[in-house]
Amino acid sequence: MTALEIVAIPAFADNYLWLAHDSDSGSTAVVDPGDGAAVLSAAEARGWTIDTILNTHWHPDHTGGNLMVKEATGATIYGPGAERARIPRLEVELAEGDTVRIGAHEAAVWAVPGHTLGHIAFVFEGLAFVGDTMFAMGCGRLFEGTPEQMHGSLQRIAALPEHTLLYAAHEYTLANARFAAHVLPDDAAIAERFARVAGQRERGEMTLPTTVERERATNPFVRATSVAEFARLRGLKDNFA
Ligand SMILES: [Zn+2]
Repeated sequence: MTALEIVAIPAFADNYLWLAHDSDSGSTAVVDPGDGAAVLSAAEARGWTIDTILNTHWHPDHTGGNLMVKEATGATIYGPGAERARIPRLEVELAEGDTVRIGAHEAAVWAVPGHTLGHIAFVFEGLAFVGDTMFAMGCGRLFEGTPEQMHGSLQRIAALPEHTLLYAAHEYTLANARFAAHVLPDDAAIAERFARVAGQRERGEMTLPTTVERERATNPFVRATSVAEFARLRGLKDNFA
């Protein structure tokens, strides 16, 4: 089985929409098509036809292109059943324990509430699409869920094998690194990653995907050992300039 080929499509100010292509079957999925036109042109440029649309949660920057991609390709739209009312034309309602496939590559659907209540992640062998749950050196805001839910979601993702690639939906790494260095100023691993990320962003490079190993080492939200500590950090970050 050939590995999935993953392509980042930058969109809006700081989103990444992800294409995942299986060359064995020719199947292509898009994860979180916030911008339908950008998704279709990226797929077309590679000669790929999207047959699967995967939504991690209902926010419009993740679902706004559902209808355009559906109309152009006839792809099937999958997403969290818990958010069905707010996801354009959701066809296959997913929940914890379900699976989805891209060719022969199968993903487990995980419920990872916190950013939204119905947020799901797609966990393949060796890689996961985590939406707005975990970011490189950070995590999503708690728009709907509780600190306890988000802490649990992050710990679950962080328990994946260390080399698992994590595809998050936003390029927030530099701001997250700045915050991490602020709350943990004496941490050498964070300082080193902050410097590396600053260089990457200066050169206009993408800082994703990240890995479970890197997040365990340098993500303060992942390193929080209690719900109370997680909640304290999240509160600080919400008010961090
Ligand atoms: Zn979101």
